[in-house]
Amino acid sequence: MAPIALTPPNEGNETLSNLTEQGISDALRKNAPSQLKSASMINNITATPPSEPEAKLQQSTEPTLAELDASKVQCTYTTSPRTVPEVGSAEMASQKVCSDHMIQAQWNAETGWAAPTLQPYGPLSLSPTASCLHYATECFEGMKLYRGHDGKLRLFRPNLNCNRMLMSTNRIALPAFPPTELLKLIVKLCATDGAKWLPKDRPGQFLYIRPTMIASDPALGVERPKEALLFVILCCFAPMGNMNGGIKLLASQDDMCRAWPGGFGYAKVGANYGPSLVAQGEARKRGYHQILWLFGEDCTITEAGASNFFVIWRNKAGKLELVTADLNEKIVLDGVTRRSILELARSKLAAGHEELEALEIVERKFNIFEIVEAAKEGRLVEAFAAGTAWFVAPISQIHFRGEDIEVPMAKGEVGAYADVIRGWLKGIMWGSDGMEGHEWGYVVDEE
Ligand SMILES: *Cc1c(COP(=O)(O)O)cnc(C)c1O
Repeated sequence: MAPIALTPPNEGNETLSNLTEQGISDALRKNAPSQLKSASMINNITATPPSEPEAKLQQSTEPTLAELDASKVQCTYTTSPRTVPEVGSAEMASQKVCSDHMIQAQWNAETGWAAPTLQPYGPLSLSPTASCLHYATECFEGMKLYRGHDGKLRLFRPNLNCNRMLMSTNRIALPAFPPTELLKLIVKLCATDGAKWLPKDRPGQFLYIRPTMIASDPALGVERPKEALLFVILCCFAPMGNMNGGIKLLASQDDMCRAWPGGFGYAKVGANYGPSLVAQGEARKRGYHQILWLFGEDCTITEAGASNFFVIWRNKAGKLELVTADLNEKIVLDGVTRRSILELARSKLAAGHEELEALEIVERKFNIFEIVEAAKEGRLVEAFAAGTAWFVAPISQIHFRGEDIEVPMAKGEVGAYADVIRGWLKGIMWGSDGMEGHEWGYVVDEE
């Protein structure tokens, strides 16, 4: 029997909404050609399945779609190496400088995935009619490659990003792929460029990894794309600030929201970000760092910019709680940092930690009026935003309908809980503080 290829367009399947192994295998199974086969061979629900020889015959005339296969990667190394920007330079901070190489993989509906390539970094060639340029058929991931204090290169739970990328492609009619193959391609690129772009004598540096998929289909019709391009690049970023002193958030106005039930806020699709930039620009102009995205008449709290939002307060019964928005309405992105903080908090904070009081971990729908009330009654303890880009950023102030809510920070510059959570995550990412061998740290062997 032919191996099951997993890559046809995801006709009519439900969108995948979680990052778990089960969720992924469901999505892949639903997208397997057996589904197309059953659709073409059995065209009504009472038809009997074809006999064995008949099935074989059908199978041989069926196009076999090739899987995304990292083991087939074809490498072409650069002959004009790029210069690594100086630490602290404007070039480094520009977020325009990428490493020497990139990964590319082409897909089309007739043959599936072509052999991926590792090739010199450079511009793409796209038809002006390409689907992604008109219909936002684009999704991406955001990860980091860390140069550890122990000299090793690490990724942080990269399997979760690869799973989420599949979930995002599903939402916008881009082709499926086995997430493990994407991970292998990312690792290949990191292994190739890591040594030069994150020198061992500069521990604590990182590169930003941007896996992207676009519909490159040159047909201008509004339809499911028949061609796509997957690419992965490594971009230089300025060293991570710790945001000590806290960030200030501006709550979104009633006339704008980031995501809505039935939409695509849970997917990392480009269409979520362009439309948020007007509000973000306004926030910056008024001296705030990010928008706190509210939703609906009850002002449900969803996210802070492109980060998940956490608050710690004492509830009315006097119990200390760590609260973040649940994922049920699919208006909040299932952040890897969010997930990791919840897991760490459940295992290390729920019963108290050193001088920190035990707290309950709560994922639920909550709104800004609850924060306003907690602040007024002196029950607000701290708040922070969490995501790969901004890491764990303490929040010092939230502006909502003409008033500033001051958010306490127990340690002056940062909340006590944010501080300890940040410490654990840092240890895992950078291989320090006794967290070197943690299972969430994925060590990349350099070439
Ligand atoms: C990427 C992103 C996050 C953070 O997710 P991480 O996996 O933790 O980086 C949160 N919210 C939005 C809207 C995002 O795009």
